[in-house]
Amino acid sequence: DDPIPTMSGTPTTELDAEPESADAEAEHESPLETARRQLEAASEEIDIDPNVVERLRHPEKVTQVTVPIERDDGTVEVFTGYRAQHDSVRGPYKGGLRYHPDVSAEECVGLAMWMTWKCAVVNLPFGGGKGGIVVNPKELSADEKERLTRRFAQELRDVVGENKDIPAPDMGTDAQTMSWFMDAYSMQTGETCPGVVTGKPPVIGGSYGREESPGRSVAIIAREAIDYYGKDLEEATIAVQGFGSVGANAARLLDEWGARVVAVSDVNGALYNPAGLVTHDIPSHLEQAEAVTSQGEDVISNEELLELDVDVLIPAAIGNVLTADNAHDVRADIIVEGANGPTTTAADEIFAERGIPVVPDILANAGGVTVSYFEWLQDINRQEWTLEEVREELSEKMLTAWDEVRDVVEEKDITWRRAAYVVALTRIADSHDARGLWP
Ligand code: GLU
Repeated sequence: DDPIPTMSGTPTTELDAEPESADAEAEHESPLETARRQLEAASEEIDIDPNVVERLRHPEKVTQVTVPIERDDGTVEVFTGYRAQHDSVRGPYKGGLRYHPDVSAEECVGLAMWMTWKCAVVNLPFGGGKGGIVVNPKELSADEKERLTRRFAQELRDVVGENKDIPAPDMGTDAQTMSWFMDAYSMQTGETCPGVVTGKPPVIGGSYGREESPGRSVAIIAREAIDYYGKDLEEATIAVQGFGSVGANAARLLDEWGARVVAVSDVNGALYNPAGLVTHDIPSHLEQAEAVTSQGEDVISNEELLELDVDVLIPAAIGNVLTADNAHDVRADIIVEGANGPTTTAADEIFAERGIPVVPDILANAGGVTVSYFEWLQDINRQEWTLEEVREELSEKMLTAWDEVRDVVEEKDITWRRAAYVVALTRIADSHDARGLWP
């Protein structure tokens, strides 16, 4: 459940640009290269068997499927889908399904690796998976999306399952997509299987609070970071890029808790008010798509939002928005990643040099997969938790993870990202150690 992919993507390089520096080259890193680089960086911090690192560089399985559907005009169109399963040493694979034109096998593998680390940071009994279909969902009608999802579920039925691999929403998919997936899978199995996917509507086994959960965890982590760096939440200024599920929920919660949210944005630009915005009055992407800037306050560009002089910057739209091109101009004191991978490796290095802490995605937005875990627990135990219970358990999980990562930051004097990877990798390596290699 990343926000809907409506922001502009990775900046393109001009054809006649200067020869690329090492920094610029790093900007073109794929999620897989980034995931491997981060794995290696973290492995240098701990005493880990290099054979385990070698295993973790590779996915356990990547499934490619062909997904033909009948379009509304009667023609047949054939799409390609993937499910990458990275590591299952700590439990079934877990991670989203993405409908996006840029989906590729390699991207799914990289994002599946991130899910392995994300689940381990918050200590969930899950491994990492990610999948998707190469499609622009905006070009499909609701009926076409339903046919696509049902056929995809059928093509993946051998590799998913409540004890095997549990998909969830991601870019371009939502609770409705999960309902169709769950229904198609259940119809073929001959029994209702709510635990096969998470992110469903509560009426069919979804969890209360799942929709708000990644944004809520971003808000919790931002609040802890504000406190850790000696700031007062009531006086803190916040800029949030993206007003989808993650951005809107994070901004509104921080607003409710007394922080001053001075800027929020969507694909069209950002609303900016140094005195603070009334975030509940601004429609989220779900409430009214791409309507943020129609609210009449001062409108600035997304680029300007990223460079505002604020206490906390929360990039919660898409990946690769903080790059070597703008990292020197960022004036926020703290960055909390709401989206998956909003900071390129080159930008990360610049922020480290400049002493700007970046609290990473795998910690900050892990609330999504954490409430997915609660949803799965409710499904397999045929239980229903209240919203209050979900929020309380989420808060506890997030605060424990925050404390563990903070301890490593302090003990090893390393960045938040590296520390989060150290926490994750230690758990994964210990699990591999305990289970061993078979045969
Ligand atoms: N797609 C979400 C993520 O990137 C959630 C995955 C899940 O809930 O399984 O964390």
